[in-house]
Amino acid sequence: MPDRKPSSAIDALLEEQRVYVPPNDFRDKATIKDETMYAQAAAEPDAFWAKIAGELDWFVKWNRVLEWREPDAKWFVGGKLNASYNCLDRHLRGPRKNKAALIWVGEPGDRRTLTYWDLYREVNKFANALRKLGVAKGDRVAIYMPMIPELAIAMLACARIGAVHSVVFGGFSAEALRDRINDAQANVLITADGGYRRGQIVPLKHDADEALKGTPSIHHVVVVKRGSFSVHIHEGRDHWWHELMDGVSDHCWPEPMESEDMLYILYTSGTTGKPKGIVHTTGGYMTGVYATTKWVFDLKEEDVFWCTADIGWVTGHSYVVYGPLANGATVVMYEGSPDWPDKDRFWQIVEELGVSVFYTAPTAIRAFMKWGAEWPKKHKLTSLRLLGTVGEPINPEAWVWYQEHIGGGSCPVVDTWWQTETGMILISPLPGITTLKPGSATKPLPGISAEVVNEQGERVPVGGGYLVLKRPWPAMLRGIYGDPDRYRQQYWSRFPGVYFTGDGAKRDKDGYLWLLGRVDDVMNVAGHRISTMEVESALVDHPTVAEAAVVGRNHDLKGTAIAAFVTVKEGKSSDSELAEQLKEHVVKKIGKIARPEEILFTADLPKTRSGKIMRRLLRDIAEGKAVGDTTTLADPAVIARLKQKYEEQEG
Ligand code: ATP
Ligand code: MG
Repeated sequence: MPDRKPSSAIDALLEEQRVYVPPNDFRDKATIKDETMYAQAAAEPDAFWAKIAGELDWFVKWNRVLEWREPDAKWFVGGKLNASYNCLDRHLRGPRKNKAALIWVGEPGDRRTLTYWDLYREVNKFANALRKLGVAKGDRVAIYMPMIPELAIAMLACARIGAVHSVVFGGFSAEALRDRINDAQANVLITADGGYRRGQIVPLKHDADEALKGTPSIHHVVVVKRGSFSVHIHEGRDHWWHELMDGVSDHCWPEPMESEDMLYILYTSGTTGKPKGIVHTTGGYMTGVYATTKWVFDLKEEDVFWCTADIGWVTGHSYVVYGPLANGATVVMYEGSPDWPDKDRFWQIVEELGVSVFYTAPTAIRAFMKWGAEWPKKHKLTSLRLLGTVGEPINPEAWVWYQEHIGGGSCPVVDTWWQTETGMILISPLPGITTLKPGSATKPLPGISAEVVNEQGERVPVGGGYLVLKRPWPAMLRGIYGDPDRYRQQYWSRFPGVYFTGDGAKRDKDGYLWLLGRVDDVMNVAGHRISTMEVESALVDHPTVAEAAVVGRNHDLKGTAIAAFVTVKEGKSSDSELAEQLKEHVVKKIGKIARPEEILFTADLPKTRSGKIMRRLLRDIAEGKAVGDTTTLADPAVIARLKQKYEEQEG
C-alpha cells in the first residue's frame, strides 16, 4: 500500500505553477479594488448581505436578514419585492431607459434590440396576457423555448405576477418535458413553433404536442411564432403569443412578493442521475445574482455582456436574465450554435456587437481549441476585457488557450464554480484583485464559507477532499420541489450541519481551491484516490489533445485501472504510437500511479445537453456493462459508436 493518511479523501497530484496577476489598468478601473470586502463579510455576514440587498428595490423592508433552521434558510424575512420590477422598472427612472437591455441575434442572422423601456412594455403586456388566461400567484408555468427574446420576456412576466416559472431547455425531448411538467404540475406551457439550431429547425411545438399527451395539469399553451413553421393549433387550448398580446395594456402592477415566495423551479443537468427540481425564492436569489454579476464580471455601465449559456440552464437564469438585468446591463443573447454557419460565429458576434465581457463553458473552449486558433484570428476581438468560464473544471491548458487566443493575452479569466442549487457563483476570482492560477476557481467570494474536508468532515488545510459549504448564502436552493426528504438526504446528510456539494476539491498552500470533479467519479487506484480531472488535464496538456475523459474500471490486480477516452485536435492523427506517448505524458505530469491502462481515441465524448462529460456512461462501457440512464444525454449515437469501438479494440 502506498504511504498515505487513512483519512485522505482524494489525493492531489497535479501541480500547476503558472500565475497571472491582474493587469494594472484593469485593477485601476475595477469595481472591487481591494480585499476589505472579504473581511467585512466574514466579520458580520448578515450586515454584509443586508447592505447588498439594500441596493435592490424593496416594497417593504425585511425585519430579519436570516432565519436558519438547518436545512431550511429564510433570507430577508418580512421583506417584499418583485424580481421583474428590479430588472426593469427601476431602470426607467434615469438614463438607462433607452439603453439596450437585450441585443438578440438569431441563428439565421436576424437581429433584435430591446431597450429597457421596450423590454418593460413587452413584459408588462405578456404579464397581462397571462393574467387573462387566469394565471395567478403561485401557479407553475412551464417554458419550452428557443433562445429568443420571448423566453426572457416570459420569465420576467411570470415573475411580475408571482407565477413560478419552470424553464425546460429547448433541446430536451418530449419525454423530458412531460416529466418536468408533471413534476411541477404546471398549468400553462409557453413554447414556440420552432427555433433554429445548426441550420436545422427545432420543432418545439411538435415535440410539445407529444409531451402534452400526458400532462393533465396543462390548461393553456402559448405559442410564439418564431418562423413560418407549420404547426397544429389545438383549438381552445393553444393561443398564439401575438394574438394574446393584441390590445392588452402595457402596464401591469408587479405583485409584491414575500422575500421567500418561490421565483422558479429548475431541474439540474442530470450529469449524475435523475434531475432534481431545484427551488429558488425571490429576495435572497435576487440579492445573490445581483451582487455576483457586479463583482465577478466587474460590470460597467458601458459593458456589453455575453453569457453564452442557454437560458434553460441555471447559468442562463442567473447570468443572462436576472443578474445582468438587475444591474441594468446590456445583454447579448444568441439563438444558435457556435459553429453555424462556420466555426467563427461567436467571434463574429463579439466583433459586431463589441462584446466586452464573455462568459462560456469549458466544453465550448475545448471545442474552440479543437477547431484551431485560426477561427478567432479572423476577427477583431479587442473589445473583450474579461472572460469567464463555468460548468466543469477547466483544464489548465484550455484556460491558457482561452486567455491567449480569445483574451489576446490581456483579459483576466474568471473560473466560476457554482451549481443549480447554489443559484449564484460561490467560488471565483475577483478580476481586479485576484492573482489567477489556470485551472483554479481560486477562492470563495466574500460572505461564502467553502471548505475542503476529509471523510470525517474535518478541515483539510492543504490537500484534496470534499467541497462543503458551511454557512447559508442568499441564493441557496430552498429545496427539491415536492421532495423534502431527498433535499435533506442529498445535501445535508453526508456531513452534519454543512451543505455537501458532491464535488471534490483540493486546497493548495496559498488557500486556492482546485475543483476535482464529482466525488462519484473519483478513481481508487492501488489505494490512491485519484480525481478524473487531474488525469484529464495531464492529457489535455499534450499538444495533440483537445479533450479527454477518464474513468476508473475494475481491474483484477489493481482494483481499478484508468481508461482514457481522448479527442485529438483537428488535423492531428491518432494511433497506437500516440497512445503510448500520451500514457508517458501522464506519467511525466503526475506519476506512474496515474498511467492510463488503455486509451481510446474518439471524435466525440458523451455529454449532457448542457455539454458536461458523462463519465458514468464511459465507465459502463469500459466495464462492458449495459449503459445506464441516458435520458439527459445530448447525442445517444455517440455512446453507441463508442461502445462498438471499445469492444473492437478490446477484441
Ligand atoms: P446533476 O446534479 O443532476 O448531476 P449537474 O451537477 O451537472 O447535474 P449543474 O447544477 O448544472 O448540474 O452543475 C453543477 C456542477 O457543475 C457542479 O457541482 C460541478 O460539478 C460542475 N461545475 C460547475 N462549475 C464548475 C467550475 N467552475 N469548476 C469545476 N466544476 C464546475
Ligand atoms: Mg449536481
